[in-house]
Amino acid sequence: MTHDHCGAPAGAIESQVRAEREAMDAATAVLRTAGCRPTAQRLLVLQALGGEDHVSADAILARARERHPAMDPSTVYRTLDALVDAGVARCTDLGRGRRFYERARGHRHHHAVCQGCGAVAHVHDAGLGSLPEALAAATGFILTADRELTIPGLCPDCSEGAHHAHP
Ligand SMILES: [Zn+2]
Ligand SMILES: [Zn+2]
Repeated sequence: MTHDHCGAPAGAIESQVRAEREAMDAATAVLRTAGCRPTAQRLLVLQALGGEDHVSADAILARARERHPAMDPSTVYRTLDALVDAGVARCTDLGRGRRFYERARGHRHHHAVCQGCGAVAHVHDAGLGSLPEALAAATGFILTADRELTIPGLCPDCSEGAHHAHP
């Protein structure tokens, strides 16, 4: 509220500091809710994981190192595993040995993965249509609620390309 500091950028710096503090508070709350002690390492890795996208362990390491250059890879990977165990993050194998991490959401979702370009789309349970029933009818298997499916395919861009010969 007070404007007793000189210089134009003060407001920008203040709002950046405030945003970082709010992000830290939010990350702390997420860990506490999961019954996971909010250590400095866990907070850093959780923030490096970000919000929406699928992030490889290497990318998370790179992001964490932007803030703490001395961060040890094995510490980051171990912390990621701890976040997965606590249910804060999910690890998905998207095929071809690509393991991706993302924030856990309220409900599970499956992944369609493009075999051409690696694009990933989310598929909710409703998007599976009658697949669970068809699977049960054909094999007696049921889809368990704790597992997600990874479905290989071609994204619209790549399937378009498959119909037209490349020059
Ligand atoms: Zn594609
Ligand atoms: Zn996902």
